[in-house]
Amino acid sequence: MQHRHLLPNEIDLLLDGEIGFNVTPLRTHADDCPDCEARLARARVIVAKLEQLPHFVPNARFADRVMQQVHIIEPWHVAALDAARRLVPQSRSMRVLMGATASVAAVLMSGSAVWLAFRADIAMYAFHLATDRARGALLTGIGHVVSNTFGQPALDAMRTGGFAGIAMGAGAMLVAVGLATFGFKSLATASRGTRE
Ligand SMILES: [Zn+2]
Repeated sequence: MQHRHLLPNEIDLLLDGEIGFNVTPLRTHADDCPDCEARLARARVIVAKLEQLPHFVPNARFADRVMQQVHIIEPWHVAALDAARRLVPQSRSMRVLMGATASVAAVLMSGSAVWLAFRADIAMYAFHLATDRARGALLTGIGHVVSNTFGQPALDAMRTGGFAGIAMGAGAMLVAVGLATFGFKSLATASRGTRE
């Protein structure tokens, strides 16, 4: 038996029902000392009352409401990857169709861009012609040459480029836009399908 009263943490050990080599002398002291016995009894009453208290559980939506106010900074590359992943259709056939559509659209767009690049010399020529004539117009009198400046370069461009070329370019652009529209439509259908 130990010859001093129990310390608060020693009473806690007894309350928790700890068993062990160091707890046995504490229990022996409490059994023989009315003072410590009374303190232990009071602590037991408090513990019992605490046990009877209702256990509060946070509302099920609590976490959601807190997280709504938390601003999570998402790195731009993660956000971009997520957005790209959302765009990719779930079904395999849709993915193949989307890939084919995108490839055709890309090829047509590139073709149109190349065509425009080759025609750029004509556009530049027309532009220089127009500026030269505008300069001339300023020297010789504005009123007379205005119609020449704006009318002639357009005609020249038409003559050198040819109506067939322009029509072909417009046709290719139309097909590309049409395919892209079809692609986006099927994409929207696919994403709606996965959402439902
Ligand atoms: Zn004691």
